[in-house]
Amino acid sequence: MRCPERAEKDGRVRAWDNVSVRAVLNNRFYLGEMAYGKSKRKSAGSKAGIDVPMEEWKVIPDHHEPLVIPEDYEKVCLFHKGADTARKGEKNPLVGKLFCGGCGYSMTYKPLRGKNKYRRYECRKHEVLQIRSRCTYFNADLLEETVLTMLNRELMVRGDAAKENQSLISFQKSCIARLEKKITECRGRKKQLQAEADALYESYAFGAACAVSYRQKADSIKEQTASLSAEEEKHGKELEQLQEEYRRTEEDMKQVIRYSHLEVLTQEVVDIFIKKIYVLKDKRVETQWNFRENGKETE
Ligand SMILES: [Zn+2]
Repeated sequence: MRCPERAEKDGRVRAWDNVSVRAVLNNRFYLGEMAYGKSKRKSAGSKAGIDVPMEEWKVIPDHHEPLVIPEDYEKVCLFHKGADTARKGEKNPLVGKLFCGGCGYSMTYKPLRGKNKYRRYECRKHEVLQIRSRCTYFNADLLEETVLTMLNRELMVRGDAAKENQSLISFQKSCIARLEKKITECRGRKKQLQAEADALYESYAFGAACAVSYRQKADSIKEQTASLSAEEEKHGKELEQLQEEYRRTEEDMKQVIRYSHLEVLTQEVVDIFIKKIYVLKDKRVETQWNFRENGKETE
């Protein structure tokens, strides 16, 4: 494919490269669709955005005139998962988590290929700055083994803690039950007061009570109801918080128990448990785990 009206200064017409063609074929915009909601804020008012998975994008069909008709699109479509023709290098689970302890640059994975006699990770600094000396490198077999051992040790310790969590869970459960009981009591008491108010009004309406004493009693019932509502709301908030803590404790336990001993470092395992790994020059490894501490994310 060529675009003759866009000849370069030297008069040559550059052909479209495969990257541009793929970008068009992969883009449903050319089908007339408008997609939005591709990212969301991390929290309200936050500048940091989180990518929303493609399946959850909001799409307006027939938004503009399509360049490609759906039938043709289907034939050449590379949109569905697994059919992407982009080159997939050998994906290593630790890539993206590894950083050089010396300079802070990320570390790349060098698989067995060509001149590479052993698999290894290398600090990217020399590549980026195009300097010759390598900052930090680490044998991949060794590093993966080290990380796996560290993770298993961590899981073992946390597994013991999880057993202790059993008692925390039963404590949380009893607190939840106690609060639920209090809330039920509040509601029952309010119902009673309502019945009292109704009866009072009836007796007043039928002339059995004078206006002053009716007013006094009615106000007192109103006050009691209001304070019960406030109490109920307070307990409700406490309950909500407790249920959230309980859910987290349980979740943490399940996660730790499910992965109590790992044989291989898969992408899933790395994503769940590892935040960052710093590789130091003296071949020491420092890991930042993804575990939650007391129900909160770790630093
Ligand atoms: Zn470095």
